[in-house]
Amino acid sequence: MRSLRQRLTVWYTAALLATLLAFGFTLYIDRRISTARELDERLALEASLSAYWLTGSQRVLERLVTPDESGVPKLDPGIAAYFEAFRDYLIVADPEGRPLFISETARALPFVSVQRMIEPLRAMPVQREYGTYTPDPGAGALRYVLQPVSAGGQVGGILVAASFDSIVYGPSALLRSMLVAVPVVLTASLLLGYALGRSMKPLETMVLELEAISDGRSLHRRLPALRTDDEVARLALAANRMFARLEQSFVALHRFIADASHELKTPLMVLRAGVERALTNPRNPPENLEALDNALAEITRMSEMVENLLTLARADEGRAPLSVEACDLRELVNEAVETAGMLAEAEGISVTTRIPEQPVLVNVDRGRMRQLLLNLVTNAVKYTPASGTVGLELDDRGADVMLQVKDTGIGIAPGDLPNIFDRFWRGDPSRSRVGAQPGSGLGLAITKWIAEAHGGNIAVQSRPGRGTTFTVVLPRFAEHPNGVPIS
Ligand code: ADP
Repeated sequence: MRSLRQRLTVWYTAALLATLLAFGFTLYIDRRISTARELDERLALEASLSAYWLTGSQRVLERLVTPDESGVPKLDPGIAAYFEAFRDYLIVADPEGRPLFISETARALPFVSVQRMIEPLRAMPVQREYGTYTPDPGAGALRYVLQPVSAGGQVGGILVAASFDSIVYGPSALLRSMLVAVPVVLTASLLLGYALGRSMKPLETMVLELEAISDGRSLHRRLPALRTDDEVARLALAANRMFARLEQSFVALHRFIADASHELKTPLMVLRAGVERALTNPRNPPENLEALDNALAEITRMSEMVENLLTLARADEGRAPLSVEACDLRELVNEAVETAGMLAEAEGISVTTRIPEQPVLVNVDRGRMRQLLLNLVTNAVKYTPASGTVGLELDDRGADVMLQVKDTGIGIAPGDLPNIFDRFWRGDPSRSRVGAQPGSGLGLAITKWIAEAHGGNIAVQSRPGRGTTFTVVLPRFAEHPNGVPIS
């Protein structure tokens, strides 16, 4: 269950189910106990009335029993007529426990059940006694009362029995009602719970907004202000305040990097000029030349890094305008092929190209596009061992243009692929068969920015040991979302 709304609905329903079960159980138990009490009171009343009727009749008539047609002693019909009005099972027995009268309800039962029903009468207690038994499985459990009667020695006692279900709205009826009510109540609560989950809507909107704030560049976005005064509204306010602080820090950070890079450029240039002068000075002892050469290489690397940092910091600040002009991409690709050819020749790598015959006119910033191609091409040569191949391909697809730089080099591990466009991320040199390579880890970050600033995108496919392909797609009519075209 992924959404909070679903979880809340389920918890709410589970809580309601638990409450209903506890409530129903308590009600059921209470109903059972009170039903037994009510039943006992009813049976006792009926038994007392019956005993009173029998003793009264004995006193008046002096005779309770008359033999029927077959000579079997039976309760006098005149007295028995009174008992027929009873709804419950009623049996009058002689002192030996033989039935003298069986009420109509009991007579309706099968013969075996009636036999079982009269059994307790065989051992008539001295005092009134209660019990529970099931003489007829079809009638369910019965509660009975045995009432001894001394009416001239003709009658021994009475048994009055009734089913627990005979109590109006007894425990079984209650249970049946609950079994119907619980699913209805639960379904209603489920629907209600889900409808109540609409109060989660602002949270869902907030999550979407937060997801849209993907990097430092979208920190200017804010969550919509809510008119309520609840926790969600306070959360939105707190998040907005946090974004404001973060945005400030980001701006300060970018400004610092941009300023620091800018400040470093001049001393590096002075240093470079000094080292170059020293290198060309004929009076310089030859043993110094190597050290000066190394220093020059380091200065070049640092200058590149400072330049790249400045570009990225300005791009982050939105201060890296593109100078867009119509340009035949084939020219730029041919230039890159030439550079690749020079670099590759020294490494024993061959370069292949596939370029359309028709001009591929696109509005781009020439300098930035050159930088993009150079970054991809130098990487391809850097990470391809001798006798490998580097290929450049340009495709005019109408609405957009596709540029591919392929190599048959060391490739990139699948786990590294998501990181390669990150700033300062560099592959592990120990895993590279071409050994440690110079670089700063900023090249691909800049390449990505250039592609996106032109409204395009860059993707990479790679298989370790087999090679890598970088694909740049540039739209023909770019909107330059990240860069600010100045022409
Ligand atoms: P670097 O200055 O290290 O080349 P990049 O940003 O240009 O920085 O590249 C980042 C990392 O991506 C490199 O360190 C390397 O591990 C990997 N990489 C880039 N291009 C290729 C390629 N063509 N083949 C294999 N790995 C590459």
